[in-house]
Amino acid sequence: MTSKETPECARCGKCCLADMIAYVTKEDMNRWIREGRTDIIHIIENEQAVWLGDHFVSSRTGRPIYGCPFLEMPDDKFSCSIHETRPGVCRNYAPGSSEICPLWKED
Ligand code: SF4
Repeated sequence: MTSKETPECARCGKCCLADMIAYVTKEDMNRWIREGRTDIIHIIENEQAVWLGDHFVSSRTGRPIYGCPFLEMPDDKFSCSIHETRPGVCRNYAPGSSEICPLWKED
């Protein structure tokens, strides 16, 4: 049996196109409070995403939400503007672990 190593992220941003705000946990919020990250909390609280069956919208504005508000493209690749304190759902996502990632390989 061979062990499957986690590949290095290609920074294509595809996994960030899901609206991560919907997956923010109480633990994430408590960490941001401890860290004084009111900038993050303000964005999370104002987005108020709701799932409409096939996409997210902001329940506050009705605006469609297409991806994570912390996704940036500083060069020719995507990056996370809150990488050091990103939510658990993002930290736990291993590159190549699902079919949305171009690094996905079927066993
Ligand atoms: S989909 Fe895969 S390669 Fe693209 S950013 Fe996410 S983890 Fe990285």
